[in-house]
Amino acid sequence: MSETKYIFVTGGVASSLGKGIIAASIGKLLQARGFNITIQKFDPYINIDPGTLNPYEHGECYVTDDGQETDLDLGHYERFTGIKTTRYNNFTTGKIYQSVIDKERRGDYLGKTIQVIPHITDEIKRDMLYLGKTKKYDFVITEIGGTVGDIEGQPFLEAIRQLKWDLGKNAVCIHLTYVPYLAAAGELKTKPTQHSVKELQSLGIQPDILVLRAEHELGTGLRRKIAAFCNVSPEAVVQSLDQPTIYEVPLRMQEQGLDATILRKLDMPVGETPGLGPWRSFLDRRHKATEIINIGLVGKYDLQDAYKSILEALSQAGTYNDRKVKCHFINSEKIDNTTVADKLAGMDGYVICPGFGQRGIEGKIIAAQYCREHNKPTFGICLGMQMMVIEFGRNVLGYSDANSVEMDNKTAHNVIDLMEDQKNITNMGGTMRLGGYECTLREGSRVREIYGKEIIRERHRHRYEFNNDYRAAYEQAGMECVGTNPDTDLVEIVEIPTLTWYVGTQFHPEYSSTVLKPHPLFLDFVKAAIENKK
Ligand code: GLN
Repeated sequence: MSETKYIFVTGGVASSLGKGIIAASIGKLLQARGFNITIQKFDPYINIDPGTLNPYEHGECYVTDDGQETDLDLGHYERFTGIKTTRYNNFTTGKIYQSVIDKERRGDYLGKTIQVIPHITDEIKRDMLYLGKTKKYDFVITEIGGTVGDIEGQPFLEAIRQLKWDLGKNAVCIHLTYVPYLAAAGELKTKPTQHSVKELQSLGIQPDILVLRAEHELGTGLRRKIAAFCNVSPEAVVQSLDQPTIYEVPLRMQEQGLDATILRKLDMPVGETPGLGPWRSFLDRRHKATEIINIGLVGKYDLQDAYKSILEALSQAGTYNDRKVKCHFINSEKIDNTTVADKLAGMDGYVICPGFGQRGIEGKIIAAQYCREHNKPTFGICLGMQMMVIEFGRNVLGYSDANSVEMDNKTAHNVIDLMEDQKNITNMGGTMRLGGYECTLREGSRVREIYGKEIIRERHRHRYEFNNDYRAAYEQAGMECVGTNPDTDLVEIVEIPTLTWYVGTQFHPEYSSTVLKPHPLFLDFVKAAIENKK
């Protein structure tokens, strides 16, 4: 195999332009040309990982199979490309400083003064090259979080400047900016882009390719102007307009030859443009699916990014069921016995969402009761599954104080208990049960049929678990523990088989649903919601 090539993706002008989608799309397009790729993200914030962050800060915390809590962009990388990311695909300033400080304490630097340049930047460079050094990849795509001009981002950009110099023809830099439309003037404005590129140039980085986010078509003249002002060739100026779905983005990028331009800049043969057949079939099916299926998400975070992977998994499952899934957020804090029927009205199925802490949990329990008693298709995920268990304990088994010790550590009916290996943990960061674990599915159960196999592997992120002391009582009363960990006997899936579709998973199936491989549980859940609608 030839040398690994590096593609750096930076952003300017504004955040939330969709750098992650662009990075994932580039990965997809290169993969379609037969290359092995991986995508990594470097986040300038100081947290070691996003595990301790409130979802209001950076949205959902995504979890890799090897148990790293990561930025949600890694979810896009996996959904677009089907690759499995690892703990080496996401670094933060905090993680980098921690490693440098550990080395300093060990005495590795032999008396040197430790400085941002070269010690922090060397550490960043080492991490940026790490996956490439494994020799598994033709391309390593590196997305830098934040925008050019942020103080925290500077060491990362300095590392890229040095790497571009070291790697020569094996590296390209793609800069994503924004071209605003001034309605009053009726004009698209290129000045912010020019400034953003200047800022990058002042740090010693000349971008090779510009991707311009805009709400209106950029004419050839405008693109030529930007090319001329920014020292890039006109074909290396690509526009990225709003799309009906993010999954259109790879096609739009391919139409403008973004992947071909990347290959040319890297002195590689371009070859034929791949057809992206399966991807296009997915999109065709998606566009044809116009009949709406309404899913209520019972949770406490009223922002989309907090449940990103669940929304994507549901929408993919919708497409494969030839329906358009419309998700409706139902704030669990607003649900009580008097409001539940009203709040939950009009939905074809319900997801009881994951989460942490006390806020909004009583509403989730009441929602679970309503769904169980009215036989609604219901999917409880992680905390949602735990709420299903608590509800069943309280209202079927008669344990009126049934609870999770996360919410009430004195309850006599601790049906959800702290896991044994969590009992002596004092640090909150990175210490939950994280990542992929195997689960054995019970013969004859619905989930066994859905997955079509006995042993599955799913990703986890939790501290509490179903208390096995209560297992027999639950089974007898009709809530069955149909998925269990083969090594530890932890309960991973509960189900009420007498209901149409009432399943709770301790794991997060949403993390592993991809465009071309939608998750079987979401597929079946949406199917049940469709049946329910009829
Ligand atoms: N708070 C619960 C636990 O730690 C559930 C976590 C989650 O929903 N991801 O077990």
